Amino acid sequence: MKERILDIQNKIKLACEKVGRDSSEVTLIAVSKTQTIDMIEEAYALGLRDFGENKVQELVEKHNNLSDKYGDTIKWHQIGHLQRNKVKQVIDKAALIHSVDSLRLAKMIEQEASKKDIVCNILIQVNIADEESKYGVSQEELPELFMELIKFPHIRVRGLMAIAPYVTDPEENRKYFSKLRQLFIDIKYKNVDNEDKEIYFNSDTFDILSMGMTGDYEVAVEEGATMVRVGTGIFGERNYSNTK
Ligand SMILES: *Cc1c(COP(=O)(O)O)cnc(C)c1O
Repeated sequence: MKERILDIQNKIKLACEKVGRDSSEVTLIAVSKTQTIDMIEEAYALGLRDFGENKVQELVEKHNNLSDKYGDTIKWHQIGHLQRNKVKQVIDKAALIHSVDSLRLAKMIEQEASKKDIVCNILIQVNIADEESKYGVSQEELPELFMELIKFPHIRVRGLMAIAPYVTDPEENRKYFSKLRQLFIDIKYKNVDNEDKEIYFNSDTFDILSMGMTGDYEVAVEEGATMVRVGTGIFGERNYSNTK
């Protein structure tokens, strides 16, 4: 695992150099879905601190298992689709929810975050290639959803997330990463009225672009990703029979 992580970190660094970015701008999230606690601890010992999970139950179990030992030094990312009835369980365990894609879901997050008196960091998931099979808002729906989400005092919209199509040549996804970055810039520099007391948005903390996985993270970094979500590249092939 050490070799694989070093290789990925090096490739991230090279991709940054190619486009004049500083590699400290990019966070490597180890996607640990289906992986055991031992594997996560191994990755932690090798310096990784951010872990991504698809399922709420798995995130909560792993969080509970490791939080005594590592406390807040280990950060959990909810990267898979989130159902409204699971919000309550995950809200104070995930450092960031990458997959907010509806007002209904956001209302539930606001409600539960308010009860716990916390502010929940979220990303808006965009269905960047308009794929039937994928969650996320369309590019057309994005501005409207964004304007609604920044009205919630217990939600902080930190950026955008997308899952690019499955391709064999990562270059095919460059156009989607570039498009997501453009949408990100459009929002960041949109003149949101910060004097408005009903608006909870600060463009300085709209700073996360979560895109790129094992097959295409280098291209994503070249196109501006600040978080890449890498599973197989770190842990090897997933064995889904490990999880219920
Ligand atoms: C599983 C998953 C990943 C990681 O996929 P790999 O191809 O194994 O790197 C990234 N993002 C999301 C949302 C995932 O569900």
